[in-house]
Amino acid sequence: MRRKVIFATSNAGKMKEVRSILADLEVEVLSMKEAGIELEVVEDGTTFEENAIIKATEIQKNCGEIVLADDSGLEVDYLNKEPGIYSARYLGEDTSYAIKNKSLIDRLEGVEDEKRTARFVCAIAAAFPDGTTEVTRGTIEGRIGYEEKGSNGFGYDPIFYVPEYGCTTAELSLEQKNEASHRGKALRLMKEIIKAKYEL
Ligand code: IMP
Repeated sequence: MRRKVIFATSNAGKMKEVRSILADLEVEVLSMKEAGIELEVVEDGTTFEENAIIKATEIQKNCGEIVLADDSGLEVDYLNKEPGIYSARYLGEDTSYAIKNKSLIDRLEGVEDEKRTARFVCAIAAAFPDGTTEVTRGTIEGRIGYEEKGSNGFGYDPIFYVPEYGCTTAELSLEQKNEASHRGKALRLMKEIIKAKYEL
């Protein structure tokens, strides 16, 4: 029987990326919903890594399977790395990304290209049934654009311009985004750890 790996998110956009990246791993990847887990974990860590470990560990205790959790966000250099670990909660959890994105663009009004640098950061934690944990980190460097562009992806993607690609991450295909993204990088590192641990 294939091992189960539960990815702790209720974000459909993230789940789509994760399934695509883990497609070649010999495991069954389940979302929280598919695994029948309903648990709100308070993310009270001070770093992406801490939050990811808190989430994965808490859920692992409740289900016994391998649990992966990510904590990710956008760091805007000009804004002292805001919104950072508060990216989902920026201006309120239920505020639309149209508003969040406009707010960031407004706060960078008049700021020249070179100072609009930003990055997406992703920490992926794994909590294993043997009680051990692992954590990996991936980043992608870019700049905050001047308007929203593109309709792929989610969240801050429409304002995250990647010079290497000459477009925003919302204009990349799923394959391109997975290749370049913070989550793709962190998850591929974690995939290797899982492969080695379980000899998959
Ligand atoms: P988390 O779900 O608590 O990790 O919060 C991550 C938040 O960071 C998301 O809700 C988005 O606002 C933002 N974010 C993380 N990764 C991405 C991405 O790939 N594209 C756009 N926004 C992202």
